[in-house]
Amino acid sequence: MKLQLSSKLPTVGTTIFTEMSVLANRHSAINLGQGFPDFMMSETLINLVHQAMKEGHNQYVHMNGWPLLRERLAEKFADLYNANVDPETEITVTPGGTYAIYTALTTILQPGDEVIVFEPSYDSYIPNIEINGGVPVLIPLQAPAFSIDWQMVKEKITPKTRMIMLNSPHNPTGSILRKTDIDALTELVRDTGIFILSDEVYEHLIFDGQTHESMLKYPELQERSLVCFSFGKTYHCTGWKLGYCVAPKHLMHEFRKVHQFNCFSCNSALQVALAAFLLQKEAYLNLGKEVQQKRDYFQQMMSQTRLKPLPSHGSYFQLYSYAGITDEKEKDFAIRLTKEFGVAPIPLSAFYQAPSENKLLRFCFVKKEATLDAAVNRLMKL
Ligand code: PMP
Ligand code: GLN
Repeated sequence: MKLQLSSKLPTVGTTIFTEMSVLANRHSAINLGQGFPDFMMSETLINLVHQAMKEGHNQYVHMNGWPLLRERLAEKFADLYNANVDPETEITVTPGGTYAIYTALTTILQPGDEVIVFEPSYDSYIPNIEINGGVPVLIPLQAPAFSIDWQMVKEKITPKTRMIMLNSPHNPTGSILRKTDIDALTELVRDTGIFILSDEVYEHLIFDGQTHESMLKYPELQERSLVCFSFGKTYHCTGWKLGYCVAPKHLMHEFRKVHQFNCFSCNSALQVALAAFLLQKEAYLNLGKEVQQKRDYFQQMMSQTRLKPLPSHGSYFQLYSYAGITDEKEKDFAIRLTKEFGVAPIPLSAFYQAPSENKLLRFCFVKKEATLDAAVNRLMKL
């Protein structure tokens, strides 16, 4: 008998980040697509990992995460967000932010539950909802600011709405939540059974003196939120794949049931090192300014090209418009830029379910100046 597999994700292909990175490598293009820095991470942190390994931190750690790391994270939340987070019961260390998001969805969703997702959305969200039996309810973000229309959200809420997914600073647009968004959200979810999944992996990557609006800053939102973070983004080590989730005790209790039979416990030496490194607060407190310089440098260089920037207030990314250069579809143009001009971006259409064309490309500017210079040199030929 022929073995038959019924796909759980029949419409899903390979993620655009892998697709564009493979293409960039094949054509020796400068990769401004997938979001990762091309410069060295902190040497101090590397040395702390080495030290942790030498000291013998090479075996399983507690399934919820190295206790000292969780304590230091709770201190950080108290400092930054005035938040009361119990390190014992409300934080779990995970192998990356993506895993934290997946696990949060698995924890909450029952078949048929509706989840409000804003488009463009990070590419893992919708497949993650669907594989967990949920139904994504898509709401477009309003270009060019890509802000949330809360009236539209209100209209999409039904008795089946189980969750709202948020992401600030936002990938791919670089938009951020403002206090007015927090007020509208608070009003909307009050006295409902709606949970919030807040993807805050870019919490420190925020520019122009703006402050990050974490769900952890607002007790009324915190009590219904699962908040996901990534050390990879904060410490320029995306390959480490280490993150964590913060949620109220009763939710975290269920989250841990899922986590313990999927991952159980994460890399020990990295956690020991990060617990020590978290004491060096300037490493994360200065991050926004450092990365803003890169955004500004790139934007200034890009003014020599025919690509036009949209505002980016946070994240690793900025959108650029090529309207006026060509009518090509975003993906076709992204591929042609990679093959013929030697610079790989990500087409914005990859962050939408239905075909969408805004003539926008996402560029990752968290690169050495020499890389950005070389890329702009090539893009000037456009
Ligand atoms: N959410 C967003 C919006 C991201 O851009 C990323 C990027 N990697 C993640 C989650 C996942 O982070 P991690 O690499 O820690 O899984
Ligand atoms: N978060 C990164 C980005 O948006 C990519 C992570 C991945 O390749 N899955 O580019």
